[in-house]
Amino acid sequence: MATTPAATTPAATTPATATRARPTATGPAVRLVQVRRTYPDGDGVVEALAGVSLDLEPGSFTAIMGPSGSGKSTLLNCAAGLDTPTSGSVVIGGTDLTTLRPDDVTRLRRDRIGFVFQAYNLIAHLSVAENIALPSLLGGHEPDEELRRYLVHAVGLAGLENRLPGELSGGQAQRVAIARALVTRPAAVFADEPTGALDSHTGAQVLHVLRTTAAALGQTLVLVTHDPHVAAVAQWVLFLADGRLAGSLESPTADQITARMSELGR
Ligand code: ADP
Ligand code: MG
Repeated sequence: MATTPAATTPAATTPATATRARPTATGPAVRLVQVRRTYPDGDGVVEALAGVSLDLEPGSFTAIMGPSGSGKSTLLNCAAGLDTPTSGSVVIGGTDLTTLRPDDVTRLRRDRIGFVFQAYNLIAHLSVAENIALPSLLGGHEPDEELRRYLVHAVGLAGLENRLPGELSGGQAQRVAIARALVTRPAAVFADEPTGALDSHTGAQVLHVLRTTAAALGQTLVLVTHDPHVAAVAQWVLFLADGRLAGSLESPTADQITARMSELGR
């Protein structure tokens, strides 16, 4: 990985305990039990997830890797309440999403889960500051000002608060998306190839921002990536193939990850 310049290290100090992630019920932050997701495909179905079970500890950082089409995005979307499993259950901080009514899933997702997309998904006519405040406003409350200021500094956007997304570089836009994902103090943050649209140097900086900020706030981080150097920063790397878990590595090197990926590709 490109070494991360000191300039990207958040200058802001971590806010006091009041702004840390809300404690979850004891047990895993994220639990999937036999999650299966099929999509209609002509007369039959595509099995995007074929029964995935996993537990992620609170505050852990997990990378998910696997060949294209192996179900990584489907897994993340189901875990984050953006998609509904065909069967199985998803438990976030002790709450089983699959037993909730759609409105309650939306509320839980808004309050307890952060999501970072490859394509940033910022609102074009809202400023940086407004984009970051949006999840709180949608949740019907004013954003936590101390946390919002902390995040703007932590992700390196100080001075850019009044810009529109069209006036930002890709790396800056993804920093806005990261601050937006963290501003509601979610227990779990999911990122689907967040560095996929960035050059490797910018991607490394953005990953550093995401990782250090989520860690400072005590959040559980789950990241899909194609890049072994990005995954090597995680505590755990889970491999998916054909909609199934195909092993895991603890604190692997990029070379170990590359070797496992080429085994999966065979
Ligand atoms: P990955 O993110 O690992 O590339 P995805 O989770 O996007 O994989 O997709 C897994 C499988 O499910 C693929 O075969 C894909 O074509 C299929 N799939 C994903 N989303 C849909 C959808 N909305 N409709 C139909 N098939 C889908
Ligand atoms: Mg994908």
